[in-house]
Parts: sequence; C-alpha cells; structure tokens
Amino acid sequence: MEKYDVCVIGAGPSGYAAAMRALDFKKKVILIERGPIGGAGITNGALSSKTWWEIARNVDIVYKQRSRYNLNVPEVNYDAVKAEVQSAVDERKEQLITHIDHLQKSDFANLLSYVQGDARLLTNTEIEISQKEGVKTVYAENIVLATGSRPRKLPEISIDEKTILTSDGISNIKDFPESIVILGAGVIGCEFATIFSSMQKTKVHLIDKGDRILPFEDEDIVEVIERNMEDHGILIHRNSRMVRMEIVNDRVEYELEYSNGKHEIFNVEKALVSVGRVPNYTNLGLEGIGVKMDGRGIIDDGTRTSVPNIYAVGDITADIALVNVGELEGRYAIERMYGRPKKKLIYENISTIMFLAPVVAGVGMNELQARKKGISYKMASVDYSCIPRAIAQRNTQGFIKMLVTNDDEKKVLGLRVIGEHASSSMQAVALLISMDGGIDEIAECVHSHPSIPEGIQECARLLLNKSMFKPDALEDYLKCTSYVPTEEVSA
Ligand SMILES: Cc1cc2nc3c(=O)[nH]c(=O)nc-3n(C[C@H](O)[C@H](O)[C@H](O)COP(=O)(O)OP(=O)(O)OC[C@H]3O[C@@H](n4cnc5c(N)ncnc54)[C@H](O)[C@@H]3O)c2cc1C
Repeated sequence: MEKYDVCVIGAGPSGYAAAMRALDFKKKVILIERGPIGGAGITNGALSSKTWWEIARNVDIVYKQRSRYNLNVPEVNYDAVKAEVQSAVDERKEQLITHIDHLQKSDFANLLSYVQGDARLLTNTEIEISQKEGVKTVYAENIVLATGSRPRKLPEISIDEKTILTSDGISNIKDFPESIVILGAGVIGCEFATIFSSMQKTKVHLIDKGDRILPFEDEDIVEVIERNMEDHGILIHRNSRMVRMEIVNDRVEYELEYSNGKHEIFNVEKALVSVGRVPNYTNLGLEGIGVKMDGRGIIDDGTRTSVPNIYAVGDITADIALVNVGELEGRYAIERMYGRPKKKLIYENISTIMFLAPVVAGVGMNELQARKKGISYKMASVDYSCIPRAIAQRNTQGFIKMLVTNDDEKKVLGLRVIGEHASSSMQAVALLISMDGGIDEIAECVHSHPSIPEGIQECARLLLNKSMFKPDALEDYLKCTSYVPTEEVSA
C-alpha cells in the first residue's frame, strides 16, 4: 500500500493550500480531487463569478459614459462575455496544474502526488480512491478533509439547472435572459442580481424574506446598495415568502405571500436559487470513524476534528466560507501537525469584499456585530464627497466608517468602506486589528494622494479630534459618534 504523511481530500483553495504547505515541511503528500482543480474557488464560484462581475461593472461604466459623453457603443454580446469568463477559469486551472507539474519535476518530485479520483475514508488512516483506472487504497498518517460545499437546494423547488438554476448552473445559460428571479438576498444572490442588472439586458427580481437585503450588514450600507439596485431596475420583493416556484412552458412561475397576507404570481424566464451552501461531508465514510458533525458542517477545534489525526478546513467546517479563510485554515492545519503555528487561528481580522454596486469592503466588526456583542465603541465616518480621489472619479457615492474601542486606547474594531476602490485600504486596517493596534499610526502615516485610503486616515483623525474638516461644519458628510450599550450619544 502506498504510504503518505498527509492525504488531502479536495483540491479547492483550502486543500491546495494545505498540500503546498505540507511540502514546506518536506512531508510526503497526496492531493486527491474528483472534479476540476481549484474547486469553487475557480469554477462556479469565486473566480468565475468575479469575472462575470468585473465584466458587468465595465459594461455598466461604459453604458453610463455612453449617455454622459454621447458615445456610440455597441451592445454587449453574451457569447463574448461567457468566453471571457471561461478564459479566466481555464487560465487559473492551468496555472495550478502547471505548478503541480513543475513541482513533480523538481526537488519535491518524491513528495507530491496529485490524483484525480473520488476519495473516502475506510479507517482514520486508510483512504479509498475510486479512479477511472480502478479503485486503490492508500495509507496516510494525517488526513485533511477539504471537500468544500455545494448550493443548498429546497425540497419544494425542482432545480433542473437550465430554467431553475443554482450558482453551479449559471454557465448553462445560453443568452442574457430577458428576466430572472433570484431567491435569496444574501451575498451570492445580491452579487448575481448586480451582475445581471449591470449588463442591462435582464429584468431582475430579488426575493427577500426580510425587510432588507443582506441582513447581517449595517443599515446605512444596505440603504445605498438597495437604492442602486432599484435605480438599476431590480424589483426587490421584501417581506415575502415564496409559496411556489415551478417551470411552466420552459419559463418560471412563482407565487409570493407577503407579510400582510397578500399573494402575487410572477412569470420570468429563469430563476436562480441562492439560499446558502451545505458542506460536502456525506459519503466520505466519516460516521464510521467518529468524526463529529452538526447540521452546519464538521465540528473542529482550530481545524482538528474529534479524531485527532483528521483535520477539516474550508467550507466543510461550520464557519466562514471564503477562499482566504479556507487557505488560512489549510495552512494552519499542516502547521498544527508538523510545527507550532506562530499564532492561534483567529477570524477577527478577515477582510471581506461584497461585489455589488458599489463594492462593500470590510474587516473586523460592523456596528450590528459590535452592538450584538454589547461592545462600547466610537464610530467615525467620512463621506466619499470629502475624498479628492472620489471627486476626481466623478463618482462620490459611498462612505467609510471606522469603529474603535470607546476608551483611551482606541483600538480598531472594524472598518467598512462602500464605494469605488473600497477594497484598496483593507490590509492596513486588518494588520492593525491583528496587532491589536490603535489608530495613531494611520492618522500620521503619509498616504498617497489622491487616494481613497485618505478617507480612512480622515476617519482616524476624526476619532482623535484632529481632522482637517470639522464634523460640526460638515455634519451631513462627517460623523463621529459614541455607542455605549443601551444609549447612543453625539461625541
Ligand atoms: C458564486 C460564488 C461566489 C463566491 N465568491 C467568493 C468571493 O468573491 N470571495 C471568496 O473569498 N469566496 C467566494 N466564494 C466562496 C469560495 O468559493 C469558497 O469558500 C471556497 O471555494 C472554499 O474552498 P474549499 O477548498 O473549502 O472548497 P471548494 O472550493 O468547494 O473545493 C472542494 C473540492 O473538493 C472536491 N471534492 C469534494 N469531495 C471530494 C471527494 N470525496 N474526493 C475528492 N475530491 C472531492 C471538490 O470537487 C472540490 O473541487 C464564492 C462561492 C460561490 C459559490
């Protein structure tokens, strides 16, 4: 039987990162993948959807400039867009495969095996791999489960991935639909609503069971996104419960019940069901060997499962489902096996981006989270109209807000930026949070000009009472408030 130090099941972002980190420790590793390399990090997920989004954003900008500068611009072509998305996916997959090929011809040749096949555990050290060529069993001292997640389906909706789709079926669409309903107003649902509406070929309906989309995000941010969505013609069905969704004559008919009891029936060309993701842990043989799970995923303690030599990383665990988090966990699992990680795995300084119109970037807590935890904080916000770069862009929609502890130390708790180039300044603040730092450095550091991060600097200065613009004079654009659990006062 072939013997390995580590067996990694799944070559999405988490598994790939784990396998590569194992090489750093000179460990013999087998990486097993049953589908396309890169998982949902590339295909039908992060990279593909971001390529759709980038193109949609460009189209939207061109269409806006068309009317502003009286330009003659041809209509966007679906086949060309789809081909471009496919190129991005192929490019990245090719890169990962080529990387493995090169490693297998290098000093790592005897350490790395990449196998295309379906894996399941027979015991806590034996893994059965079903391949085209047949079935084989390998031995590994440690196992990393990195099998990711898949779209959640609802028993009452029959999904054919042609007319009623999940995000896995998006690439089956043959042309821009004339209309689409999106069930679920979370990040993925809202991103696709943004993509389709920005292409300006599709009437988008968005079903939201609550009274606002993105219920985990602060209200002031959501307000901007909702306003833009509605300006782009998106019909948001708020406080609505889906009673029925079915295919009728190759189109989708759906019926909603609103919180006031009223019912309404709609007919659209396509539907996208985007109601969350479920971890891939069935058929892995885990039950027999005692790996504990709950309905949300595998239960782990800093990536280690209830079976000490089995680790779980990425979407299969019951925490944040993001590429960067999966990679972090994949690397961390290996460091726990063979070294001593320099730091505990922490999730407080994870940077996130929601690819909407405009982009929302964040790190650390937002106000909702801080309040839920009963934390006393100070908040400063600067409107984009006070940031020269935004003025130069001729687009001042957006704002930056920073949260710090409500004490002399003023440690950064979180940052949210909504607007053009929102993500350009996350890293400095993420670093400050992970270093448990205060805001003096940001307030004093010389930022490039004109740049959006200057707005973050201005937030820091506001919190230190040394901003250039004084909030009393520009109260619609600059804010500085304190929140103490149970009350809110102006600073
Ligand atoms: C539409 C969409 C947009 C997204 N956008 C973003 C974004 O902008 N930013 C971001 O950070 N994240 C984004 N995500 C989330 C991100 O894609 C996932 O968090 C990430 O891919 C998880 O990585 P993973 O390695 O844990 O799992 P996956 O990427 O799902 O990879 C798991 C791999 O395991 C393989 N596998 C499963 N079972 C077996 C088995 N038994 N044997 C062998 N192989 C197996 C699968 O084939 C798959 O390739 C998005 C997701 C979706 C769906």
